[in-house]
Amino acid sequence: MENMEKTVSDKIAASEILSRIVDFLFPRRCLLCGKVNPDGKYLHFCERCSPEADILRGARCLRCSEIVGTEGIPDTPTCARCRDDPPWFNKSLVVGSFTNAVRQMSIELKYRNGTYILADMSRLLAEVRPARAFFDKAVLVPVPLHYSRKLKRGYNQSELICRMIAKTFPDANLRIAKILKRIRRTPTQTTLDREHRAGNVRNAFALSNEKAAKAAFDKATRFVVVDDVMTSSATLSECAKTLKRAGFKNVDAFAFARRL
Ligand SMILES: [Zn+2]
Ligand SMILES: [Zn+2]
Repeated sequence: MENMEKTVSDKIAASEILSRIVDFLFPRRCLLCGKVNPDGKYLHFCERCSPEADILRGARCLRCSEIVGTEGIPDTPTCARCRDDPPWFNKSLVVGSFTNAVRQMSIELKYRNGTYILADMSRLLAEVRPARAFFDKAVLVPVPLHYSRKLKRGYNQSELICRMIAKTFPDANLRIAKILKRIRRTPTQTTLDREHRAGNVRNAFALSNEKAAKAAFDKATRFVVVDDVMTSSATLSECAKTLKRAGFKNVDAFAFARRL
């Protein structure tokens, strides 16, 4: 017994030494202030630039995740905008606003091939209190990229986020189903205003194989469409619409960051 404990503590000590050597040879830096090898909870953010500061706080609209009041006020099922023009998904969750560390994580993942950032994203997601219950037994559906864009980038960041979510909550019985495809190439949403965004992605998605999806899932299946950044919610809403028009009623949305 004593020997076994010794072996375990030896192993921990060895991995600690190894990670120090790696840090020495390939220093990590805080992505916001440049501090070398931050030793807090996050690998790529120092204590001072801690991503937890960027978690969305305050009362939010449960439908679109817009902040509607300060912390302590209860959440609301719909905000004024959702009453006027409701998105197709029933409810949503986001980790944080598109600022500071949350913004940097989204950029690293999407544009810099930054899969190393997924570990920090997972640590941050685990801090979001409603997340575990939100994802319980869900089928995660990544927002698809058009094949030409995926070819260029080499990966779909929404798929990577789906895998990150499943790893963060191993006991939530999550499944990932790549059942949507993008049927037309759309210009990037980032340069368009709200009205044009909705038009830009309208009818841009379809089920890759409707028959197979209907055989695999039923009306009660709870889907969560997953994207990296939600801006006007037009993309997530169009994906939810595609699922709902196929007869699936239980469709929610998740984005890592929300541009407010
Ligand atoms: Zn820093
Ligand atoms: Zn709302």
